[in-house]
Amino acid sequence: MTAPLPLGSTIGIIGGGQLGRMLAMAAARLGYRTVVLEPQVDCPAAQVANGQIVAAYDDPAALDELASASAVVTYEFENVPVVAAAHLARSVAVYPPARALEVAQDRVAEKTFLNGIGIATADFRAVENDEELAAALHAFDGSGILKTRRMGYDGKGQMVFRNMTSGGFDGACSSLGNVPLILESFVPFEREISIIAARGVDGAVAAFDPAENIHRNGILASSSVPAAAGESTALAARDAARRILDALDYVGVIGVEFFVMADGSLLANEIAPRVHNSGHWTEAACVVSQFEQHIRAVAGLPLGDANRHSDCVMENLIGDDIDKVPALLAEQDVAMHLYGKAEARPGRKMGHFTRISPRR
Ligand code: AMP
Repeated sequence: MTAPLPLGSTIGIIGGGQLGRMLAMAAARLGYRTVVLEPQVDCPAAQVANGQIVAAYDDPAALDELASASAVVTYEFENVPVVAAAHLARSVAVYPPARALEVAQDRVAEKTFLNGIGIATADFRAVENDEELAAALHAFDGSGILKTRRMGYDGKGQMVFRNMTSGGFDGACSSLGNVPLILESFVPFEREISIIAARGVDGAVAAFDPAENIHRNGILASSSVPAAAGESTALAARDAARRILDALDYVGVIGVEFFVMADGSLLANEIAPRVHNSGHWTEAACVVSQFEQHIRAVAGLPLGDANRHSDCVMENLIGDDIDKVPALLAEQDVAMHLYGKAEARPGRKMGHFTRISPRR
């Protein structure tokens, strides 16, 4: 696809959560229709999309239906089966490319890719059993974080070890489900930042300002912009994002999370081949949000201006936080965004709000 998608075209979205919902809303604002592939009926995205295909993400008939209904297909989560993306790509443009899914789905492949293009990460070892874990912990002086290589999110599937020089970790691998694991050296970071960047079909790149992120119980709690990390750290984050986008011949929005060390240097932690929770602030503090930017990219439109017009703090509303909404709505300078989820379970992201203030 080279020419921009004509107005009224349909964009297919795999995944029906809040990210798909916000993509569908951004697509509608640009005059496009959306159809969502998602097994859960009345999911957050389907509530605002033009249609839903209710089926599993790897159902071949459903994928064919999605391909024939769509001028381009994108996705809202990184665990879309690579075979599904490859199947779709035979008959319709799929952005971001399947290679980005491959890299982002496996923490070992991800770090190997990043190191290969000159982007530093924590030291790591692939681990399959307790003996390999013992050897890897020994190499990292007894401290590290054991994670599942695949399907981890919001800190799930992780185990922290500190000063474990003399055993005591028997059964660790089986408690994580006897799946392929990675031990990462423990990073004594000063802060965590992320950058949201986009690459167009024509190779143009635009990056938003890095956000400073606070996690609670492994879940993103807040993102503040500007980040306290200095200008050279921000430039390094922008440079890393550009190199990742170019190396993957990427189209769409990507999120890259980094640890910032005491000397301001960066270690990349994770890449997300999709719009990202730490970029939700862009809808309140930039003229073009990350969601519109993604739709522009996959539709072959020019990328929008990624400069912020305001400083801001975005906070997630998790579980019972939803009860704070009436009081927040009474405040000035708060942009509220709720996801249409009926039930507020602990740990469930129900919405977010962004408090803006004049740009310093
Ligand atoms: P992840 O699922 O990799 O994003 O990890 C969730 C959170 O755990 C990160 O945002 C960090 O706060 C922390 N974390 C992850 N990996 C490491 C590491 N290698 N060293 C120190 N903290 C980490």
